[in-house]
Amino acid sequence: MNRMTAAKSIDWDAVRGDFPVFERQVNGKPLIYFDSANTGQKPRSVIETVDDFYRRHNANVSRAVHTLGSEATEAYEGARKRLARFVNVHPDELLLCSGTTFAINLVAYSWALPRLKPGDAILLTRMEHHANIVPWQLVAERTGATIKVAEIAPDGTLDLASLYAAMTPEVKLLGVAHVSNVLGTVNPVREICREARRRGIATLVDGSQALPHRPVDIAAIGCDFYAFTGHKMCGPTGTGALWARKEHLAAMPPFIGGGEMIKEVRFEGTVFNDAPHKFEAGTPNIAGHIGLGAAVDYLGALGMAQVEAREAELLAHLNEELAHIDGLRVFGTAKEKAAVISFLVEGAHAHDLATLLDLEGVAVRSGHHCAHPLMRFYGVAATCRASLAFYNTHHEIERFVAALKKVRGLLA
Ligand code: PMP
Repeated sequence: MNRMTAAKSIDWDAVRGDFPVFERQVNGKPLIYFDSANTGQKPRSVIETVDDFYRRHNANVSRAVHTLGSEATEAYEGARKRLARFVNVHPDELLLCSGTTFAINLVAYSWALPRLKPGDAILLTRMEHHANIVPWQLVAERTGATIKVAEIAPDGTLDLASLYAAMTPEVKLLGVAHVSNVLGTVNPVREICREARRRGIATLVDGSQALPHRPVDIAAIGCDFYAFTGHKMCGPTGTGALWARKEHLAAMPPFIGGGEMIKEVRFEGTVFNDAPHKFEAGTPNIAGHIGLGAAVDYLGALGMAQVEAREAELLAHLNEELAHIDGLRVFGTAKEKAAVISFLVEGAHAHDLATLLDLEGVAVRSGHHCAHPLMRFYGVAATCRASLAFYNTHHEIERFVAALKKVRGLLA
C-alpha cells in the first residue's frame, strides 16, 4: 500500500504487476498492450471485486429488502458516490449507464430532441468520435436543426478562433471531446465552456479519453453535460456515466421507461422517480459499476496527477524513439497531448502494420478509430494508433520501436 500513498515514489513495475493480463504472451512474445484508448486493462482489485460480487452478494438493487439485496444496493450506490467524488460532482447528478455512447444519446433524445427546432444548430468539432456526431445527426434530422463544425489546425489543435466564430445565436449545444482518441489533443474545455456559456450555448464534453489519464474536476470545467466510459479507466465494459446539471435533469423527460425509474404507475399516467433513478430504468450493470467503484479507488490511490506525469514521460520517450524511424507520418502533434500516437509508415497499409506488429506481440489499433471526418481531414482511410497507459514501460517502448523497424523492413 505504501507505493500507492507515497505518490512521488511510485514503483511503476509493481503497479504493472497489479494487471494479470501482462503475465501472458502473444505469439510467443510478452504482450505489449498499446491499445488503451480502445479499452483499458483491469487491475486485480477490479477483477476480484466483480468476482466477489457474483460469488457472495449477487442480488438485484433497490427491489429486495433481504440481506443480499441491501448489500448489492449499498455497494452499487457506494460506487456511484465514489465515482462522483472522483470527478467532484454530486452523486444525484451522476447517471450510471453503459458508457459514453449511451450517455450522449441520452442527452440527444431527452434534452435536445424536445428543444431543438428548425433554424437551430448543434456545434461539433472536426475531431469528434462518431459517438459525438451520429446522435446529433439523428436529432438534427428529426428537429430540422443543422450541424456546424469547428475546424482543427494540421497539428491537431482545435482552432479556437473557428470555434468561437461558429458560436452564433442559432447554436444551442456544443459537443466537444475533452481529449481526442485519435490525436491525443487535450482541448481547453474550461475556457471553451466559459465562452459557450457567455453566449447561452449548452455544452457537452466527451470525457472518454480524459478520465483515464488526468485529474478531471467536472464542476470546475463548467459544462452542462459530461459523458464518460468506465472500461477505458480500468473498469469493466458496459459501465460509464453521464453527469448533468441538476436543473437539466429536473426538466428532462426520461430516455428509457420501465421499472425503477418510477414513483407510481397507473394506466392513466406515471409519476417518475427523482434523478438519477428517473434515467436508470431496468436492472443496471450492477457488478460492472461496483467494479468501476473499485477502479476509481485504484486510480485514486495512485493519484491522477501521478498517472498524468507518468504517461507524459512515456510519451516523451516514445516521441524520441519514433523520431529515428524514416518515412513515419505522425497525426497529431499538439502541445497539450495525451499519450496517443496515430501514425502511418510510408508505403504500408495500417492494417498490414498492425497485423505484423501483432506477430511481435504488440497490440495497436488500426482503422478509422470511429472518426471518419478526421480521417477525411488528413486525406487517409486509416491510421495505426499506439495508445499508452501508466502500466506501460520504457522497455516496451524500445521493443515496440524495434518491432516497428522490423515490420517496416518487411513491408518495404
Ligand atoms: N468518445 C471517445 C472520444 C471515445 O474514444 C470513445 C471510445 N472509443 C467513445 C466516445 C465511445 O465510448 P463507448 O464505446 O465506451 O461508448
